[in-house]
Amino acid sequence: MNRIYMDNAATTPLSSEVLAEMMPVLTTDFGNPNSLHSFGRDAKQYIDIARSRVARGLGCDDEEVYFTSGATESNNWAISGIARAYRHKGNHIITTKIEHPSVLETCRKMERDGYRVTYLDVDETGLVRIDQLLHYIGADTILVSIMAANNEVGTIQNLQAIANIAKEKGVIFHTDATQAVGAINLNVHEMGIDAMSISGHKLNGPKGVGALYVSNRIIITPFMNGGEQEYGLRAGTSNVAGIVGLGKAVEIATRDILANSKKVRSLRDYFIAEVEKKIEMTYLNGHSIQRLPNNINLSFGMVDGESLMCMLDTYGIAVSTGSACSSGSTEASHVLVAMGIPADLVQGAVRFSISKSTTKEEIDFVVEKLVESVAKLRKISAMQKSQVGKGE
Ligand SMILES: *Cc1c(COP(=O)(O)O)cnc(C)c1O
Repeated sequence: MNRIYMDNAATTPLSSEVLAEMMPVLTTDFGNPNSLHSFGRDAKQYIDIARSRVARGLGCDDEEVYFTSGATESNNWAISGIARAYRHKGNHIITTKIEHPSVLETCRKMERDGYRVTYLDVDETGLVRIDQLLHYIGADTILVSIMAANNEVGTIQNLQAIANIAKEKGVIFHTDATQAVGAINLNVHEMGIDAMSISGHKLNGPKGVGALYVSNRIIITPFMNGGEQEYGLRAGTSNVAGIVGLGKAVEIATRDILANSKKVRSLRDYFIAEVEKKIEMTYLNGHSIQRLPNNINLSFGMVDGESLMCMLDTYGIAVSTGSACSSGSTEASHVLVAMGIPADLVQGAVRFSISKSTTKEEIDFVVEKLVESVAKLRKISAMQKSQVGKGE
């Protein structure tokens, strides 16, 4: 069966260009970058190049890039490390209700450690309530952490406005840009962002590697102890191949951003228009314009999202309900709930995340199967309802 992958927000395939860059490090050039001999020096050089590539892609200095095991670690480190470093200044953290669990769970932990956390609301399109940010930010606020773009509904925040407010108030601003890098232009120095998390495998890079940008103007406590790696803040022998892959992936994603986002956006809009034309009671979740070019999050009335996902899977079509991270649990999406989406439509939500490799033919096939599947599921749902009626 010809499979169609529309779950690029969960992970992306490794680009062949990235793999080619990683190969020498996985084979002949296997040295430990901390070793003083030629093998070690070679490995160190690979890391230096990768760090430069990431720095160029994000618009910061090389010394402001710290490699991690992924965005989960970057988010854990940013929040706990910055909050601890500035504990003398205050104990208040501001975040939002729609963050990735790696931010939300870390904030819960900080609350248990004595910090006070405010979780901002979002409007029905998923945009953070700026008025609330202005209202809650105070003298004891030390950190604002707000994601650049949401992984479930694709809403892109007014990041510059948020960064400006934080700066004005003298508060550190961290953003989880895992979904945004390569999709929208982000220059951390120009925008006044103090810390930013990214991940390799969301950018056609390898899994298990990411980075945290930390501005030289702020401080952060170490995340791992026991070595001088990553300027002494994140100890442990470096994942050289992963780091090399991340460097190349960031370079490619930020280099091709304009062409890719234009192409993907037009495919996205075609997909949405086709579905809205062919399926009644279709609702687009998230912002209609301020939205990741590759994100399509739809609710279908009288359809259970998980059943729809499973039916599409039988045709080889890979999509997702809510976020991949919460799959396996039957809990409703915290993002859609925060947006005030009615419970039945929260249950009906399905995310299609396409890529620059998605074709119009694939979209046509998916829409065709979607029309069939939604009709089938609505029929079953109507039958069940009438049976329940008879039993009364
Ligand atoms: C995927 C994702 C993460 C987690 O990244 P990992 O590298 O898989 O740990 C964090 N935040 C967002 C917005 C994501 O989409």
